Amino acid sequence: GKALPRPKSTRIMTVSNQKGGVGKTTTTVNIAAALAGAGLQVLVIDIDPQGNASTALNIDHHAEIASIYDVLIDDVPLSEVVAPCPDVANLICAPATIHLAGAEIELVSLVAREQRLRRAIEAYARTRETRGEPRLDFVLIDCPPSLGLLTVNAFVAAKEVLIPIQSEYYALEGLSQLLKNIEMIQKHLNAELIVSTILLTMYDGRTNLAAQVAAEVREHFPDQVLKAVIPRSVRISEAPSYQQTVMTYDPSSSGALSYQEAAVEITSRS
Ligand code: ADP
Ligand code: MG
Repeated sequence: GKALPRPKSTRIMTVSNQKGGVGKTTTTVNIAAALAGAGLQVLVIDIDPQGNASTALNIDHHAEIASIYDVLIDDVPLSEVVAPCPDVANLICAPATIHLAGAEIELVSLVAREQRLRRAIEAYARTRETRGEPRLDFVLIDCPPSLGLLTVNAFVAAKEVLIPIQSEYYALEGLSQLLKNIEMIQKHLNAELIVSTILLTMYDGRTNLAAQVAAEVREHFPDQVLKAVIPRSVRISEAPSYQQTVMTYDPSSSGALSYQEAAVEITSRS
């Protein structure tokens, strides 16, 4: 893709919504691939025990692989778990394995349990600098559909929240709970955190409903909602079964082009 401007400092975004199936993972991997394709240095952190982002990026994540679990629970440096995405240059991923399912409970009794991801990312940035590796431009964190300690770690590590919203009837339902939780995080754990970006996903342009939902979301969040919307697209949903993002699976599809547009908008808004 066309080169995109580097942000002034690393932008750490958590892709969050406590609803499942709204396009968090799809958004994480495709925005990441679009940014990396434009020459930016991108790290995806998969903190969903399902490991769907790892799968879509074609990153090994069977049980024996060193993963984000080891980072969060055993203080293993991120530098030891990140792996390059084989199909996309400039894109690396910290995979999730099945062990992460237990981390929610195991974290409870650990010191600085909410800060572990933040510290790991900070240490990794220093390691890259020491090694003379380029500074990361974006860190995208793919969250599980819950508001437990894994998601809290992501909120504490991040500076920005990217909320994907499915363009369907109950889209705004549950959003107020998410925003309340973010306010709690801002108050107690991370005053810098902002909801910078909202992306409408699975948009079906043929229905009035989708247009109504989009209008309503834009009215509530005029500054956050991206102009780009992600259409409902078979190519987007097929890509992960080939362990690819739609950006490489079908780069000229409407899905790939819309994620490309969203990525351009995100870089223009820093
Ligand atoms: P989440 O991570 O929020 O649970 P996913 O990104 O896994 O959501 O998306 C849920 C399902 O919907 C997946 O099967 C995915 O392939 C599919 N999907 C996501 N975005 C689209 C889209 N724009 N068009 C069609 N299918 C989509
Ligand atoms: Mg997911």
